[in-house]
Amino acid sequence: MANDCIFCKIVAREIPSNFLYEDDYFIVIKDINPHAPIHLLIIPKIHIRSINDLKEQDKELVGNMFLVAKKMAKEQGVNESGYKVGFNVEKGGGQEIFHLHLHLLGGWKK
Ligand SMILES: [Zn+2]
Repeated sequence: MANDCIFCKIVAREIPSNFLYEDDYFIVIKDINPHAPIHLLIIPKIHIRSINDLKEQDKELVGNMFLVAKKMAKEQGVNESGYKVGFNVEKGGGQEIFHLHLHLLGGWKK
């Protein structure tokens, strides 16, 4: 855990947050500054700064992030209307919290 990482503090429940989903490896929360009607963040419990810091051993974790995204999309009712998932990488890529997280956006009107 990185000392000053807001997501590590949320995972550790040091900062209160509403978990839409939790398992042994991930939590899912709403983005506090949503860019879509539904904007969720899939966050691994372990601290990894960004895609740039992924290691061979993280393959399964990253794969599982997408399965959590799929599950959340269905739960939020956007699996058929459509949604986006993506990573922002470092400042130039729009990353604001330097703890890996997958964005899930959807729920736009047709
Ligand atoms: Zn962290």
